[in-house]
Amino acid sequence: MDFIRYAESSAGLLNADLTDRDSVVTHLAARAWLQAQVTDRDAVVLRRFQKDLRPAFEASARDDAQGVVDVVNALLERHPITPRIADHNPARLHIHVANKAASVADLLIGESLLGLANLICDLGPTRLGVCAATPCTNVYVDTSPNQSRRYCSERCSSRANVAAYRARQKAAAG
Ligand SMILES: [Zn+2]
Ligand SMILES: [Zn+2]
Repeated sequence: MDFIRYAESSAGLLNADLTDRDSVVTHLAARAWLQAQVTDRDAVVLRRFQKDLRPAFEASARDDAQGVVDVVNALLERHPITPRIADHNPARLHIHVANKAASVADLLIGESLLGLANLICDLGPTRLGVCAATPCTNVYVDTSPNQSRRYCSERCSSRANVAAYRARQKAAAG
């Protein structure tokens, strides 16, 4: 499994609008083969997961390593994962998260948690964050070598830079 990609998809899942079935389908635009299986219940389960997972990103953002581990462990217990070695490409065996019987919500939650658990063990528990560009509340996974990420997106980063520049100009003028 490419755990960084799965961990990043957990931030994407948390930031997504999952109001109803249609919005879950939209979120899965890059995975068309899953779209037809999405149910109303998936939207409900995924919204609950968003609420439960956010504290892990908030704990990480304030360097609360124990808090991150506790939240993710509690979620791993609530959402048991069935890992499988996938051989659809025999030259590159890799881990898939859930079996065919799992719902779309189970699959997305399993991928998120396995990705995050691996990321936390390999890169450390303080690699998750909440965007510093208020009022944005999006979360992100920081895989930068010097752990310097502060914003969820390029868009928020440049918005914050412009705001800081204007504030400096105003201070200089006043
Ligand atoms: Zn595969
Ligand atoms: Zn942002």
